[in-house]
Amino acid sequence: MEAETAPCFRTRHLHRFEAAGKAFLYLQNAAIFALDDPSRAILDLLEPEPRSRDDVMTALEPRWPAAALDEGLDELVRVQAVAPVDQASPEIPKVIPLEPFPLTTMVMNVTNQCNLACAYCYEYGEDKIVDTANGAQPKFMSALTAKQSVDFMFREAGPNKVVHMTLFGGETLLNLPVLKVAIPYARQRAIELGKRVEFNLTTNGTLLKPDAIDFLVENDVAVTISIDGPQEMQDTFRVFHSGAGSYDVAMPKIKELLRRHRTKPIGARVTLTSKTLDVHRMFRHLTEEVGFREVGFAPVTTSPDRQYAIEDGGFDTMLGQFRDLAEEFRDHAVENRHHAFANVKDTLEEIHKGVSKAYGCGAGLGLMGVATDGQVALCHRFAGSEDHSMGSVTDGIDRERQAEFLDRHHIENKTDCRTCWARPLCAGGCYHEAQTRYGTTEAPNLHYCDWIREWTDVCLRIYGELAERNPAYLARFEGRVTDEASQAS
Ligand code: SF4
Ligand code: SF4
Repeated sequence: MEAETAPCFRTRHLHRFEAAGKAFLYLQNAAIFALDDPSRAILDLLEPEPRSRDDVMTALEPRWPAAALDEGLDELVRVQAVAPVDQASPEIPKVIPLEPFPLTTMVMNVTNQCNLACAYCYEYGEDKIVDTANGAQPKFMSALTAKQSVDFMFREAGPNKVVHMTLFGGETLLNLPVLKVAIPYARQRAIELGKRVEFNLTTNGTLLKPDAIDFLVENDVAVTISIDGPQEMQDTFRVFHSGAGSYDVAMPKIKELLRRHRTKPIGARVTLTSKTLDVHRMFRHLTEEVGFREVGFAPVTTSPDRQYAIEDGGFDTMLGQFRDLAEEFRDHAVENRHHAFANVKDTLEEIHKGVSKAYGCGAGLGLMGVATDGQVALCHRFAGSEDHSMGSVTDGIDRERQAEFLDRHHIENKTDCRTCWARPLCAGGCYHEAQTRYGTTEAPNLHYCDWIREWTDVCLRIYGELAERNPAYLARFEGRVTDEASQAS
């Protein structure tokens, strides 16, 4: 009888990183695992090629006792960092969320009109999702549709006690009269239903007149301002239809809002392009000179042939600046001081909560967009697109269509993403960007994989350092509900 061959072990898809002088693993199930010296040596040995337990012992026993190596290997198998060769790529089960999945966030497009004509805006350029339904959309949502949307939101929220209502455009404040109907109505319905509703409104800031500010303050509405920073950068793309820059009009109003609105966070949301990529300068201007306490950046989403699209070299520039700000954030967090760089805070929160995404974002799952006519879409960026419709505010979510969408877009269908260590936090990325770049929402956004992985690595290191130097800082993320749409753009 032939002797049974001892199984060989190999590493699975994982990411190793160092922080505060210690070695860690980030696993595909989003767990973070601190490595002791024997486990580290075992991984060093297994990474180039699979080895048997005996090989591990023979190679490492002179340095560590057999018991420590045995225990180290068992632990690495237990946490799914290594596996016997024949089980090296086990399927992560394709779990489709239970139905009906409750709505957590409704993004309501109260208008598709805007008083600005930002050159990179997805709403007006070639990036607009066009199909049969476009063109039929009213320019402004009516008060009736707004109230029906609120009813839809509470109905589809199911057992959720808290719902998030994000007011969006076009320029949202162009339809202030309907906001003045929808927000008090939502508040009243929430009281009647024993729920809580959180409001967030996105605006370009140019229409923040005194009565609009009064309304936002009185109704406790969190505000996100789309702004690109110092005058020369803001006025490169964020222009009126006449071509005139918007900085001089928006900035005094934004400062007045920041002065008067103290109960809810006012965040700045910056769009980065190949021509406006001085992250440091934008950040300093918006925090130190204007007074924002939260500033988040996002690269422009566009087809690659646009001149302002960020390509490889631009991503490196962006990453270097993000890294500097992330390290500054870390130094503040170690001393429990506030720092305004929202990108790192949001990612740290996801890491801390062990977020492992099956979908690139909440669109079509817990988040839906509502178009001006009450059509329900994947998200606000697909509002008005028949191909991406998910029902209507009067008929509710089309659950059959939603189930089919969720099945088709699950990360297990994305070959490149299945084996990627960054999948827990990325899962293929934004559907709108995929549609713009590759012509289908099903495609993973492979053009930014390097950037995503490097940025995730930066955040993991910051996380590891905070876990060692000030774990209490990270504890603040526990129990916090993330509003996916507060970063709607
Ligand atoms: S898009 Fe790229 S970085 Fe994101 S999960 Fe897929 S392969 Fe990984
Ligand atoms: S990430 Fe993309 S698809 Fe998801 S909500 Fe935002 S714009 Fe829509």
